[in-house]
Amino acid sequence: SERMQARIEAVHLAIDHAMTTANAYSGSLQSAQGDLEREIGPEALGVLAARLLAETRRMQDTNRMLEQKLEASREDISALQRDLDDVRRESLLDPLTKIANRKSFDEGLRSAIAEARQTSNPLCLILMDIDHFKSFNDTYGHQTGDQVLRLVAMTIKSNIKGRDLAARYGGEEFVAILPNTDLKGAMIVAENVRQAIHGKELLKRSTNEKLGRITASFGIAVFHPADTAGSLIERADRCLYAAKHAGRNRVLTEESLAEISETQTGVTAA
Ligand code: GH3
Ligand code: MG
Ligand code: MG
Repeated sequence: SERMQARIEAVHLAIDHAMTTANAYSGSLQSAQGDLEREIGPEALGVLAARLLAETRRMQDTNRMLEQKLEASREDISALQRDLDDVRRESLLDPLTKIANRKSFDEGLRSAIAEARQTSNPLCLILMDIDHFKSFNDTYGHQTGDQVLRLVAMTIKSNIKGRDLAARYGGEEFVAILPNTDLKGAMIVAENVRQAIHGKELLKRSTNEKLGRITASFGIAVFHPADTAGSLIERADRCLYAAKHAGRNRVLTEESLAEISETQTGVTAA
């Protein structure tokens, strides 16, 4: 931005200079016209022609300088545009896992909700959280924990498709927005991710140390027309909380939540 500022100032100066020169040139042309309308001798005519020639050259030089400055700033603007594109792309990614970050999740969910409202197509949200991750970090160290977060992010990403969006919601929590997907479809996705995570035996590459397996718990909410982004996330979070409570390493939906409360209370909602 500093480089751009300097470039813009240089172009402003060049334009000012070009305008001053153009004004002076126009003044000279006018006075030459006045001289020519009067009778002037051949000697004065020669002086006048030489003056006009010199001023025309100066005008040409100024224009050339302005052209060069404009050309240079055009290149700068293109470079800056590329930089801005890179910065924008990076601002939407989580630096650790390189999947979408919270900011792009928020944007993605807003537009997915708007679309679901407009089209009445189903929309599901999966919220997931790695189980007992604090104790994993405590046992194997934060850096190994970071590697696991990368692995989990890639596992989620490889189990979604098309316009689905996987994001790091924060810490060891991830989220997937599944447009055009009903509860049954979302359960399949979540179950695939759960099994893929559980199915991996973790090995520390540098030492070949076996790190065992990790698991994750999942909550799924289905969009209702009355939902806001907040209420949808809150319901997915409630399901996730219930999945933790029910023993972790499982997928829970609002339907399964209702079943749990039925078996616990022995009462079925009318
Ligand atoms: P639960 O099964 O109830 O989710 O237990 P938990 O230990 O996973 O949950 P808790 O919320 O107590 O701890 C979350 C842990 O996640 C704490 C922190 O050590 C770890 N964590 C969060 N962000 C990062 C990160 O960026 N890198 C690493 N390595 N660990 C992280
Ligand atoms: Mg957590
Ligand atoms: Mg956790």
